[in-house]
Amino acid sequence: MMRRLVLVLGDQLSMDNPALADFDPQRDVVVMIEAASEGMAVWSHKARITLFLSAMRHFALVLGERGWPFIYLKLDDPLPGDFAARLGAVLAEHQPLALYVADPGEWRMQQLLEQVCASSATPLRVIDDTHFLCSRSEFATWAKGKKELRMEFFYRVMRKKHQVLMNGEQPEGGEWNYDAENRSAFPKRTGPGVIPPPARFVPDAITQEVIALVETEFTDHPGSTDHFIWPVDRAQALQALDAFIATRLAGFGTYQDAMWTDTPFGWHALLSSSLNLHLLSPAEVVAAAEAAYRNGAVPLASAEGFIRQILGWREFIRGVYWLDMPGMKQANHYDHQRALPGFYWTGNTGMACMKDAIGQTLEHGYAHHIQRLMVTGNFALLAELSPQQVSDWYLAVYVDAVEWVELPNVAGMALHALGNRFTSKPYISSGAYIKRQSNYCSGCRYDPAERLGERACPFTTLYWNFIDKHEATLVGNPRTALMAKNITRLSADERAGIRLLAASMLERLDTL
Ligand SMILES: Cc1cc2nc3c(=O)[nH]c(=O)nc-3n(C[C@H](O)[C@H](O)[C@H](O)COP(=O)(O)OP(=O)(O)OC[C@H]3O[C@@H](n4cnc5c(N)ncnc54)[C@H](O)[C@@H]3O)c2cc1C
Ligand code: SF4
Repeated sequence: MMRRLVLVLGDQLSMDNPALADFDPQRDVVVMIEAASEGMAVWSHKARITLFLSAMRHFALVLGERGWPFIYLKLDDPLPGDFAARLGAVLAEHQPLALYVADPGEWRMQQLLEQVCASSATPLRVIDDTHFLCSRSEFATWAKGKKELRMEFFYRVMRKKHQVLMNGEQPEGGEWNYDAENRSAFPKRTGPGVIPPPARFVPDAITQEVIALVETEFTDHPGSTDHFIWPVDRAQALQALDAFIATRLAGFGTYQDAMWTDTPFGWHALLSSSLNLHLLSPAEVVAAAEAAYRNGAVPLASAEGFIRQILGWREFIRGVYWLDMPGMKQANHYDHQRALPGFYWTGNTGMACMKDAIGQTLEHGYAHHIQRLMVTGNFALLAELSPQQVSDWYLAVYVDAVEWVELPNVAGMALHALGNRFTSKPYISSGAYIKRQSNYCSGCRYDPAERLGERACPFTTLYWNFIDKHEATLVGNPRTALMAKNITRLSADERAGIRLLAASMLERLDTL
């Protein structure tokens, strides 16, 4: 009789997976399932599917080396059906006393497991996922009674609790947050200069086999596998972490918000996919960054800026996801309904910033935070796109996309679809911000300074249109009052012209 069947999901690839605690190879068995339904749940980028499948297959090798029994269903295994059907078949055949799994990352998967186990009368044991530094229940306790949640306060609690960058009760350096030092653009005259490249990993035999499979099974999916560089196992992920800390963390802080053509990665870490697959733990990544600061290798603003993203944002975002699902998926504060323009899938647009951000996304499955937030996300909000369509796009195209982190970032941060739930204002900007933070505008057919006329930048026209439409609510919020005040300086004619041009742009988004 099988005691436990332990399900290891594609984003739980760690031997520290708490569902594997007390694993007894004499009585327990691991199960891992590849299923087309998971790659098709959204229209996934080929590199994203490749990464998940290759990392799962590499993890199975580790189980094999330990001599632990496991069942591994490959995509092209003859057992038919989607994920639920495949799991149901395994439960029916082996009839374990219980199915063990660590907290699934996705609300949908949790529902699915409950249903499959109920219909096969198998007890389901869901174990708190100790990968995270804040459990779901701990976050719920922190959030209790708060209508609006703010990352900054949560982050301070986490810094104290985990004693990260602390001097006793005080934050290292006297400040909690060095965000003001994290916003520089690259020098306009010289550009980014030489940035040490991130670690890159040539696809091994397993990854190559997966790439061949993906190119056959998911032929018409977006993106390319030609530039696949991502870590697929723990050893590679550790190498990527070491390389980042040694060569790139120092410049990360200053240039976190900078963008430049032909610079897809900037000084960023490229560690999100390894973290989200659990090849790395957030605790070890945070510890490595703190150690680099304590050893004098990197400035405090870089270490703090980086640690804030992981100990602060990443944990906070997960907490909010589980608190607000399933409602978050339908949230639509502004009731935006417009369809996603086709160029999100091709990069075929005259807007140079969008072309660059989308182009590198299709090439690598990667864009950094400011490109996601202030270029593609900003445009989606100003163009009044449906949050559900935009969110499906983000879930599809990034190698690090898993719903618990993607959805709150898209709905909550980029689109303000949750209202003020965890951001105090919508993240919108005109072309002026993009011009300041990048060199995109110098190669564009539009002019970021123009809100009217033939060369009017869509970001700029649609920004003023947004303010015009929402003036009454923006003026009442201290963080947006100035934006709203600025529009009162425009003449009635100019405001009417903006409304007219914006309406025409919104009608022909695909041609912009
Ligand atoms: C609209 C939008 C969608 C996003 N979708 C995803 C997603 O699907 N998956 C994902 O992992 N991140 C997502 N992010 C957050 C962030 O953009 C990525 O984590 C980051 O760009 C990954 O690149 P990096 O590893 O080089 O990160 P760096 O910029 O080097 O940051 C270091 C690490 O901090 C964490 N981090 C940084 N910002 C955030 C954040 N806002 N939320 C959670 N963790 C953060 C990541 O683990 C990241 O690896 C999204 C952000 C926006 C605005
Ligand atoms: S001019 Fe406008 S559309 Fe063109 S790159 Fe600048 S911000 Fe983007």
